[in-house]
Amino acid sequence: MRRETVSKSDYLGERAIVVGGGIAGLSAARAVSDRFREVVILDRDKLPDGVIPRPGVPQGKHPHGLLAGGLKALEELFPGFGDELRKVGAVPLNRGLDLLYEIPGLDPWPRINIDHPTYALTRPLLELTVRQRVARVSNIKVRGGCRVVNIIADPGTGAATDICYYTSQGKLETLRSDLIIDASGNGSVTLEFLKASRRTLPEETCIEVNMHYSSTLLDHANIGDNYKVAYTLPDAPKDNRGGLLLPAENGTYQLVLIGRGENIPPLKESEFRTYALKLHTPTIYNAIKNAKLLSEIAPCSFKQSRWRHFAQVFDFPRGLLPIGDAICRFNPVYGQGMSSALRQACLLSELLGRSNQDLLSTLPQDFLSKAEDIVAEPWAMSAVPDFVYPDTTGVRPEGLEERLNFQKGLSRLAARDAGVFELLSDVRNLLKPLKALDDPSIVSKVESELTSELSLSSAATAA
Ligand SMILES: Cc1cc2nc3c(=O)[nH]c(=O)nc-3n(C[C@H](O)[C@H](O)[C@H](O)COP(=O)(O)OP(=O)(O)OC[C@H]3O[C@@H](n4cnc5c(N)ncnc54)[C@H](O)[C@@H]3O)c2cc1C
Repeated sequence: MRRETVSKSDYLGERAIVVGGGIAGLSAARAVSDRFREVVILDRDKLPDGVIPRPGVPQGKHPHGLLAGGLKALEELFPGFGDELRKVGAVPLNRGLDLLYEIPGLDPWPRINIDHPTYALTRPLLELTVRQRVARVSNIKVRGGCRVVNIIADPGTGAATDICYYTSQGKLETLRSDLIIDASGNGSVTLEFLKASRRTLPEETCIEVNMHYSSTLLDHANIGDNYKVAYTLPDAPKDNRGGLLLPAENGTYQLVLIGRGENIPPLKESEFRTYALKLHTPTIYNAIKNAKLLSEIAPCSFKQSRWRHFAQVFDFPRGLLPIGDAICRFNPVYGQGMSSALRQACLLSELLGRSNQDLLSTLPQDFLSKAEDIVAEPWAMSAVPDFVYPDTTGVRPEGLEERLNFQKGLSRLAARDAGVFELLSDVRNLLKPLKALDDPSIVSKVESELTSELSLSSAATAA
């Protein structure tokens, strides 16, 4: 197998250990590989050579949209990655031409060519492609079947220095390291370490979203009109049933039917199809009516979005960095989790590229505070619409009512104005910052939109 060469030789340390070989762990390993002589990824799962979901990533049975901003980050870490995705059979997607958004009262959306395409494929194939790419980096070792038990502190400095883990032969071993990256998804090794060393635990911002997913793989689908993706959203807050039909490799399609609270999409095929018929439009039902299911219908309940503010832990230890879902787990309906993790890996690479003498001692605070900024934008974009449902509980974003109102006006505007649609798509795909929507020209258009809506509804009431 071809080995990618390591570009820099001025190592910061002998070894970095990454706990977890999911999207965050693999990309973080690439990010640190230029600055450590050896990088070891430990994952509790035996990592498959084929395209199959694995127990450590149960969400892998559900469709995973890759935002254009996530693909951009992958390209930064692994140049040419988009071409590799194409070669393994991922389906190229033009965000402006190929996606049929169905939002009650707002369709049809403009259909325009938008730069920066992305790809659709199953999550196991995406992860396998990243893993194969990582395997070509000569100083990264990926060890499957290795469950990390805990982190050990240096008795003198309190820094995180060793990892204690079960090898694939079931032996308990310790491994010394200069940097430990917690990409375990749940972040429990970091939390346990903070507790064991009597440090402060991070505050959490949580939103109870109570989402339910039921997903399957289909042999084909036909959305019509050359659309490749159909995303049917509910008439919120009156209804909460939605569906996403997304192409995947080998001509297959991934379908997730979504519900919330008491509304749990069924797992029996006949009832699952009936649920599809109850969506706001019959588009998805019709697109799959002749399709055969290639997998069981897999359930997933997602109770809570959770953001851990590690940057505020004043005594955060040297030698340890959480990343990805270990920091923030987003409501999956917005498809942000992988892309946020990938952007954090790019941040890590950027910070490690600096020529600071004592980089490792400042790294945790630098990384965690900048990662907080990376998380803040997608969090703001998902927290606001989550509160459209009055029974959503949790930490409400500041100025919620105004933001909900602005978002309503913006969506109405984007449905008519191709330029605003493109900008909104770029922001939602994490290609442009959220503040791009605060541009005075956009704000004044949104305000006129809201005023004209108000006059129309007053006129209707008077009539
Ligand atoms: C139903 C659902 C749908 C989603 N859809 C999307 C989507 O459309 N788009 C999107 O971008 N995101 C989506 N997400 C979010 C996405 O799955 C996560 O944000 C992303 O996988 C985070 O990656 P991670 O590497 O941080 O964690 P994970 O993918 O959870 O990986 C953690 C890894 O750590 C390993 N591990 C855990 N503990 C240990 C241990 N003690 N020792 C060794 N190894 C360990 C696990 O085996 C696993 O491999 C969805 C999530 C859900 C639940």
